[in-house]
Amino acid sequence: MKIIIIGAGIAGVTLAGACQREGIEVKLYDKAKKLRNIGGGLLLWPHAIRYLNWLGLGDCIIPYRVSVKGCQMVGTKGEIIFTADYSSFFTLIGGEVLPIDRSLFQQLLMTHLSDSILQLDKRVIEIKEDTHQATVFFSDGTQESADMVVGADGIYSTVRKNLPHYAIQYTNNCWWGGMSERKHVPSLASDEVFVAIGKGKMCIAWPAHGDRFMWYLPIKMPAAQLASQEEGITQLQTLCADWNPQVQQIISAPPSAQRFHLPLYTLSPQPVRSTSRITLIGDAAHSLGPILGQGANQAIEDAFVLINCLKRNSIDIPSALKYYDSLRYEKAQRLSELENQSASTMINDDMEALEAFEQQIRCLDLATIYQDLIPLVDEKACHTLKSNFIEN
Ligand SMILES: Cc1cc2nc3c(=O)[nH]c(=O)nc-3n(C[C@H](O)[C@H](O)[C@H](O)COP(=O)(O)OP(=O)(O)OC[C@H]3O[C@@H](n4cnc5c(N)ncnc54)[C@H](O)[C@@H]3O)c2cc1C
Repeated sequence: MKIIIIGAGIAGVTLAGACQREGIEVKLYDKAKKLRNIGGGLLLWPHAIRYLNWLGLGDCIIPYRVSVKGCQMVGTKGEIIFTADYSSFFTLIGGEVLPIDRSLFQQLLMTHLSDSILQLDKRVIEIKEDTHQATVFFSDGTQESADMVVGADGIYSTVRKNLPHYAIQYTNNCWWGGMSERKHVPSLASDEVFVAIGKGKMCIAWPAHGDRFMWYLPIKMPAAQLASQEEGITQLQTLCADWNPQVQQIISAPPSAQRFHLPLYTLSPQPVRSTSRITLIGDAAHSLGPILGQGANQAIEDAFVLINCLKRNSIDIPSALKYYDSLRYEKAQRLSELENQSASTMINDDMEALEAFEQQIRCLDLATIYQDLIPLVDEKACHTLKSNFIEN
């Protein structure tokens, strides 16, 4: 079997590594001339780490473990409204959450790939399929065929044009983020997550490997008001000028990797993400939004499920893809709903609603806050998913 994967983000690189380990002929193409550091970090949850381990790709992240013990949330009036110890939460979800630089993680996954698999500077413009194969057309005039093509080409996927009904939606939030050394904000604990709630905005800082921290700051605002690349941080400082002093320090700390800011769009999952010979994984299939920190984790889960569907039914690709679709929609849909609910509660400019939230969260614990998410990501969920591939 030969597979062409379009897009060398977390989704594409994970699937390419899994294909290589299974002895499947695989080619990975990306339009970028160079894989650049787009800045920022992400949270790898234990279920994704478990899938990486099951795919034989998990070893690379072991040296980057960060000890995160708890969390503190500061409300709109500057007082602490919530604290939590993570140990019992980590037991519930079956392991620790690992904060890691997005680019570092991508590079670590790449170390599993033979040199011949990835080719850069190859922009896909069209894909055609017949009953036997799918053919990819590149902007440089070349083309290549394979038994199937996987679109791992992100939220603005070109591959997705082969599938109906998808539409991206603006979340009404712009996101800033970056990574810095902790010495620039000594008040941040080395093992604690800091969250500050503001009117129409919030700030989240996670400890990261190498005595650094990664931060995100979403603000409710129209996408058209977002400043240019050069002026992004100045705009953020202005928008946060009257807010929490610790937040001011976090966003003004000298960056250790490129900062980013972007208008945030999401893509709701659809029941059908495959044709006979073309399918989607990662953000190309469902872009969830970052509040619950599940996007990359679901991309890895997609790769795990897809490779196992193909192993289970390698001679009938259309049937394998139908099975893949059937295993992905419900969970992606549920996560998308939970993400949207969390985003509208946490990034809120209605002060009355925010004050009600602040009162409510004082009485909650992490198990209650995440009660709907936990069954989707805990160890039992992983084994249930895996059991779909165990022949009776
Ligand atoms: C602010 C922010 C914070 C986040 N935090 C978290 C978090 O904590 N935890 C988490 O799990 N997720 C998080 N996410 C989501 C996560 O980053 C993504 O879900 C994840 O990276 C999966 O990406 P992907 O590989 O599907 O797509 P991408 O990373 O978008 O990669 C797509 C690739 O396809 C290539 N490409 C696109 N079009 C073409 C074409 N026509 N031809 C060839 N190549 C093409 C691109 O160059 C790119 O390399 C966050 C996202 C944002 C925006």
